[in-house]
Amino acid sequence: MTPHILVFEDEDALATLLQYNLEKEGYKVSVASDGEEGLMQAEEETPDLVLLDWMLPKVSGIEVCRRLRGRPETRNVPIIMLTARGEESDRVRGLDTGADDYLTKPVSMVELTPASAPCCAASVRAWPTTGSATATSSSTGSPTG
Ligand code: CA
Repeated sequence: MTPHILVFEDEDALATLLQYNLEKEGYKVSVASDGEEGLMQAEEETPDLVLLDWMLPKVSGIEVCRRLRGRPETRNVPIIMLTARGEESDRVRGLDTGADDYLTKPVSMVELTPASAPCCAASVRAWPTTGSATATSSSTGSPTG
């Protein structure tokens, strides 16, 4: 199964950039240009990861986060907030609301590569890639570098 990333982003340029690069990495990417549209998409197909812009038309990122966390299907989906520089209070609020992590805009694709982004790696590791809820005790401790 191809991991499915749902991107909430109303800035066309950034949405296109994220979609292009993530698809190149082999992910299936959906883009929603406002909160309402994204919530509908998340209901139709549960994503494996959500990239959530905080300033969205119709339904704000905080509200989107709350609603995703309020539904059993999307409660455990990793959510990474996209915030503009300096919105420190938004970050705190976002993490408080249930977001797993945040990236500061402008977002570079380097930041979104799991291997080079410790802040994302935890979320990415949590992806339900096996489709099974049973945890195996085998841990991969291979040193990198
Ligand atoms: Ca925005």
